[in-house]
Amino acid sequence: MIEFEIELVDRRKSAQEREAVLADPGFGLHFTEHMITIEWDKEQGWHDARLRPYGPLSLDPATKVFHYGQELFEGLKAYRQPDGTIVSFRPQANAARFNTSCDRMAMPRLPEETFLKSLELLCDADRDWVPTREGHSLYLRPFIIATETGMGVNYPSNKYMYCVIAAPSASYFSGAVKPVSVWLSRDYTRAAPGGTGFAKCGGNYAAAFVAQQEAVAKGCDQVVWLDAAEHRWVEEMGGMNLFFVYGSGPDARLVTPPTAGTILPGITRDSLLKLAPELGIPVSEEMISVEQWRDDVASGALTEVFACGTAAVITPVGRVKGEEGEFTISEAGGPVTMRLREELVGIQYGRRPDPYGWITSLA
Ligand SMILES: *Cc1c(COP(=O)(O)O)cnc(C)c1O
Repeated sequence: MIEFEIELVDRRKSAQEREAVLADPGFGLHFTEHMITIEWDKEQGWHDARLRPYGPLSLDPATKVFHYGQELFEGLKAYRQPDGTIVSFRPQANAARFNTSCDRMAMPRLPEETFLKSLELLCDADRDWVPTREGHSLYLRPFIIATETGMGVNYPSNKYMYCVIAAPSASYFSGAVKPVSVWLSRDYTRAAPGGTGFAKCGGNYAAAFVAQQEAVAKGCDQVVWLDAAEHRWVEEMGGMNLFFVYGSGPDARLVTPPTAGTILPGITRDSLLKLAPELGIPVSEEMISVEQWRDDVASGALTEVFACGTAAVITPVGRVKGEEGEFTISEAGGPVTMRLREELVGIQYGRRPDPYGWITSLA
């Protein structure tokens, strides 16, 4: 295991300065006092691992990441438990997905224990920044960038930097659990077979902003991506996976599209596929078309739709709009959506038992 050099800030922020941020942190706006950096090059592999004061990076303008976008990231949260300790939710799964993304982007894998150690060190150093307020958490953002200088395009970078920063955050969609409206994008696609849809790379987001702008221009909160070939099969929403609830009460069952290379395999999605059957809600991975979505809402067979991801946990989808018109699923989060949300959040904040071993102590 790589050794980390520890350099702490000279002067910590006062409790008062910290409280001013924690009172209303927003999402991903304010950062803690430290960060992690680890360098990689061909000769030494991973080296120069450091916990150091948070601050700007100095990079040559010809650094590869600026030109060819060789970058990827992860996102997970540290949760304050009732006993004051700090845990995360399935960070091993983030470490594994980080490496799957690295493979796709021709970047070096980071040993999982180094990934986990980096989170532990940062959370331990900045433990006072982990919110105690209900629904708030410390959002952890590990990422890796190509740091070789030079603009040759025929080969991947031979130098990289791994970095972790942390932001105390409120929930992503502010306020109470309010259904979002979605725009079905027919002009743009997020991912195609053989592309980078399954990798958590910044380029996927860069290419998505224009569709998100279109969604907002159409009066919607979020974009829903359809498949690249037929623009018909539902894939995912912005940075979240989608679930469809059929039936209600004891007959409720969940459907989500199979990831199949174009959909980002969310850890929240995977957790719900395991959790729901334990609550008596069967799950299946099936493709669902826009027409089926509309018709099944109209017939009453499809009762709830929600999106899920680390940042916003579980968010109901209320209204769906596309070129052909619009329809409404519900004005509020449905009972299955809210039950799954309560169960998942309960495990993360230590209010519910965790028979799955998903909770991992960080500090
Ligand atoms: C990160 C992400 C998700 C959700 O993944 P989680 O592991 O549940 O946070 C879904 N879709 C996209 C495009 C993402 O980047």
